[in-house]
Amino acid sequence: MEPPSSPSSNITAPPDYHETSQRLAKLIAEAMTCRFALLHYDSASKSMIEWCWPVDSDGKKIPLYHLERYRNGHDFKYPCCICADGGGKGAYIEAAVYPWWNEIDKKTDWTARCALDTCGYRVKINVYFQLLSIGTFQYPQRATEQ
Ligand SMILES: [Zn+2]
Repeated sequence: MEPPSSPSSNITAPPDYHETSQRLAKLIAEAMTCRFALLHYDSASKSMIEWCWPVDSDGKKIPLYHLERYRNGHDFKYPCCICADGGGKGAYIEAAVYPWWNEIDKKTDWTARCALDTCGYRVKINVYFQLLSIGTFQYPQRATEQ
């Protein structure tokens, strides 16, 4: 009788871990290289979709330094990062948006970045502000909180 083959030779990494990380890395690369739209994660389709820049009632884009204030008064969220993947339909993990002084160019860069610094989502968003092709949306005003 032959001895049973060693089980250790059959051990492999869980099959979908590698696949998942590759898929997510691809999504992040997509967001970072897309030049005509600001992409963020959509948990319903598990893909990157366009994030719409908020506009005022005249259709003018809300400037970056007003976004935070706008966010307080409107039903509006910063882009969703890849951490929402696996959270099911409707999962939304809001990225942090903040200004960053660029010492080399002597100007302020605005970045949307994973708030937990986990998934690697990071997009410079000031370039999109000037784009004519970017999608815009007039977000509804938030009901006054009690
Ligand atoms: Zn994240």
